[in-house]
Amino acid sequence: MSITSREIRLKSRPVGLPSADNFELASVELPAPGAGEVQVKNLWMTVDPYMRGRMMDRESYVPPFQIGEAMQGGAVGEVVASNAEGLRPGDLVSSMLGWREAFNAPAGAVQMLDTHGLPPQTFLGVAGMPGLTAYVGLTKIAALKPGDVVFVSAASGAVGSVVCQIAKLKGHTVIGSAGGAEKVAFLKEIGVDHAIDYKAEKDLTAALRRAAPKGIDVYFENVGGEHLEAALAVANPFARFALCGMIAQYNATEPPEGPSNIIMAVGKSLRLEGFIVSNHFDMAPQYLKALSGWIQSGQFKWTESVETGIENAPKAFLKLFSGENMGKMLVKLV
Ligand code: NDP
Repeated sequence: MSITSREIRLKSRPVGLPSADNFELASVELPAPGAGEVQVKNLWMTVDPYMRGRMMDRESYVPPFQIGEAMQGGAVGEVVASNAEGLRPGDLVSSMLGWREAFNAPAGAVQMLDTHGLPPQTFLGVAGMPGLTAYVGLTKIAALKPGDVVFVSAASGAVGSVVCQIAKLKGHTVIGSAGGAEKVAFLKEIGVDHAIDYKAEKDLTAALRRAAPKGIDVYFENVGGEHLEAALAVANPFARFALCGMIAQYNATEPPEGPSNIIMAVGKSLRLEGFIVSNHFDMAPQYLKALSGWIQSGQFKWTESVETGIENAPKAFLKLFSGENMGKMLVKLV
């Protein structure tokens, strides 16, 4: 059976902060799936900060989106028709074919999703790529050790809120930075010891020093800029920085200034290490096992910000840069 699917295409490459004009909504007709193919209706899709990088025409660890083509990204959906062995209508699947309501694809482009009783969209957030990013960055890259004081930026977001909770569950003192009173309240709810509203602070380094009078041992970097400067200033000797992202500069039109105090990395013998989660997918089973234990014992919380309808996907994406999301930013498609 043929169905109509609406999708979001990249209309033009954004310069600076993207706007609604950079995207267009289009419709396509999907025929019945061909041999070896499935037809999937997406239930949820994710918008993530890394997608901003894919809107630029440059070499990176993921290829750029093409102008005039539907964008791509994580999604969970339901098989509605199948011409492939092993997949039946009603099966839940995950794929990288988000930014559209439905698609036909070879069976190999989707993965069967066993939700273990969790809502399916959590596999785009706490139980998916962002959650794994938090786990990898904290336990492997920063190599968390007993007694570490942990500082997290964008702490109320999809990745940051998981970092904070894992560190708390492992018995650490956690300092989280986020923008605004509502986010600070959420950080306290998830057990963060000291929540900094960086938008209300004139001097972030002074605020961090007050929160961590004995210094920080781990910095989970999501933001860059003055957050990185503050972390360098307050870091203890041999502190480890997991460089996960630097969202403050994703829309920069000029090369951003480096942290003025990067020299402190030398004197303090700091270790700054970047990472990309897709190089660590082997840690997913280990993470999911730990996460399900924390969830079952009621020790883990998460929150979602949801826009509804494919036409609102660009709006959801833009909220990541205005800080209007709390927890995982998602688009509900059905
Ligand atoms: P979030 O859910 O944290 O959403 C983005 C948040 O970033 C906003 O809510 C806002 O929070 C903050 N922010 C946006 N612009 C600025 C700015 N100019 N200055 C300071 N804060 C800003 O997103 P994710 O959890 O999905 O991603 C967090 C980080 O992790 C990003 O840097 C992302 O690129 C990175 N990442 C890296 C991966 C990897 O493999 N290395 C994988 C996944 C994510 P607030 O209101 O608090 O400012």
